[in-house]
Amino acid sequence: MVHRAVTVLGATGSVGLSTLDVIRRHPKRFSVYALTAGTRSEELAALCREFHPKFAVMADPTAAQKLAGLLADLPDVTVLSGESGLCEVASAPEACTVVAAIVGAAGLGPTLAAVRAGKRVLLANKEALVMSGKLFMDAVAVSGAELLPIDSEHNAIFQCLPAEKIRDPEGAGITRILLTASGGPFREHSAEDLLSVTPAQACAHPNWSMGRKISVDSATLMNKGLELIEACWLFNTTPDRIEVHVHPESIIHSMVEYADGSVLAQLGSPDMRTPIANGLAWPERIDAGVAPLDLFAIGRFHFERPDLLRFPCLRLAAEAFEVGGTAPAVLNAANEVAVDEFLKGNLAFTDIPVVIERTLSATPVAPADSFDVIFAKNTEARQRAREQIALLTV
Ligand code: NDP
Repeated sequence: MVHRAVTVLGATGSVGLSTLDVIRRHPKRFSVYALTAGTRSEELAALCREFHPKFAVMADPTAAQKLAGLLADLPDVTVLSGESGLCEVASAPEACTVVAAIVGAAGLGPTLAAVRAGKRVLLANKEALVMSGKLFMDAVAVSGAELLPIDSEHNAIFQCLPAEKIRDPEGAGITRILLTASGGPFREHSAEDLLSVTPAQACAHPNWSMGRKISVDSATLMNKGLELIEACWLFNTTPDRIEVHVHPESIIHSMVEYADGSVLAQLGSPDMRTPIANGLAWPERIDAGVAPLDLFAIGRFHFERPDLLRFPCLRLAAEAFEVGGTAPAVLNAANEVAVDEFLKGNLAFTDIPVVIERTLSATPVAPADSFDVIFAKNTEARQRAREQIALLTV
């Protein structure tokens, strides 16, 4: 059995806690090298008391000071802060595995640090890949990092592909990727009903328990749009070879169609511990603590096409990928700002795609030829998205 020291970026979040639950079940196989969070120092302190990492990092310096006080009786845990602290633990030689589970664009720098250091990187932070696409995959190729998708759909596709053909689906005889989507909590809402939905309703996902930002993305179908782009980069394919299937049961996590008509699928309960355990132990299989699937209880599977009129975010994401350059980074930035304002009660749900579309129109596309360009566009697009929101809410 290989022993793995693990750094969990975003340890206090939904994916971070699921990761730590898998690690907790396998104390001989995994140890925790570093845990990180954004601002919630008390939650991170509690995790440090259980997992005894060498490093604990808060992105926010004030929260880091508070964490240092909370851990004063644990001198073996060193507290760091800021992006530099996150990048330091993501690239430290002592940890071979990094779980990239920070939410949003804030995850790009630390995830990239792990990639550049040649780690096994379990990628949940899809925004990092959406923003930087080819640059990110080139960095993986240069460093020899082992990039394992733990987004459930991409992990399913990964499991359905021959290991040596992950980046060559055509060479593997693959004709289509069938990307499944739950449809979110508003799948059956009319366009009129969508006008008045609340953040609490948007965050109440029917099948998955997730952080607030991805829950809203799931409700708008932007999550599927980000995942479409993510799949194109991970599996070296194009949107015309990916078909989104709304599958409200969320049991089939995605499928791969081969030239001979075979369709391979990965099924499981909607529980992130399955793809996380798959990535942590790959190529071995370990207990994830997930209840066995009871297909008799589920009974039936349903499939429908996504409705791009009620849920335009999926279309916007596909278009941004086609435009290329910095357009996906702008899409992502505008979405993050709009979702944040929706969650604060300052923007209507149906205005999220409006803000994204107007921000894309207002932000000139540049070639995505360096990470500096990506970071600068991210900042510029956030400003432009705020301007669009101000115009909509006067
Ligand atoms: P959560 O909101 O639950 O957790 C986010 C984590 O990131 C927390 O640890 C948070 O710390 C930390 N964080 C937030 N802002 C910053 C920042 N500026 N700098 C550093 N750390 C920060 O998110 P999820 O776990 O739901 O999602 C994480 C990522 O995984 C997202 O990219 C999401 O799209 C992806 N994903 C999530 C799935 C899920 O089931 N939840 C499924 C597939 C992918 P703090 O607690 O202090 O705020």
